[in-house]
Amino acid sequence: MLSRLALLVAVLAGVTAFLYALLRVGGGHEQAQATPRPTAQPVQVTAVPTATPVPTPDLPPVDLSSWMLRLIDYDHPLGEDFVPESLTDVGDGQQMDSRVAPMFLKLVEDAKAAGYTVYVCSGYRDYATQSVIYFDNHVNVYMAQGMSEEEANAKARLAVNYPGSSEHQSGLCVDVLESSSQDMEPYIGGSGLMLWLEQHCAEYGFVVRYPDGKTSITGVEYEPWHLRYVGDQAAGYMMANGLCLEEFLALYN
Ligand SMILES: [Zn+2]
Repeated sequence: MLSRLALLVAVLAGVTAFLYALLRVGGGHEQAQATPRPTAQPVQVTAVPTATPVPTPDLPPVDLSSWMLRLIDYDHPLGEDFVPESLTDVGDGQQMDSRVAPMFLKLVEDAKAAGYTVYVCSGYRDYATQSVIYFDNHVNVYMAQGMSEEEANAKARLAVNYPGSSEHQSGLCVDVLESSSQDMEPYIGGSGLMLWLEQHCAEYGFVVRYPDGKTSITGVEYEPWHLRYVGDQAAGYMMANGLCLEEFLALYN
């Protein structure tokens, strides 16, 4: 009887070790979503034969120097002369970097199937356009209201990136709304499309670049409509763990 029990324990131990190894080796794609952790097994085995020590598989193995993970902000500007190599039309008169446009168009198609019509409010913007938006539509307006130049710049930078430091100049991001109305307020509260994007954008390699509650890190107020391409793995990890790009990149330092 005792020896049969011992045999059973040994067999269970072997199966447990095998399943454990399988879970650890599991595909990199899924790792981006959530880290599969082996659940506690009913049989306590002290001598599990582990072949090789496996490092914590939490972080997806992304290439930090890749174009898709480039951090673009006030301190990391693209500069006045940056222009994407190739641009593709993505609807409503807007363009995106040709490398990410197909994924965005698939997102639009699937959103439509889910009941949401996507209006492409703004895609690639060149340096000159960003200057007009920044100065004419913001800084100059605030100064006309009586703010000092410094105050006007500080307020403008919360809402729109300084020329040369906007992700829109990279062609890797896009603003999407449910209609051509430029009134952004209704979307802050979480419209249907915004909630759908929050749940599904990562499946297409996009993240909500300026999440709620991250303004102190990103320097930009909550923008549920601003999607940035970072690739499947990074997007899955960031959206699943509630991280903005700055926080994600910092995990690798
Ligand atoms: Zn935007």
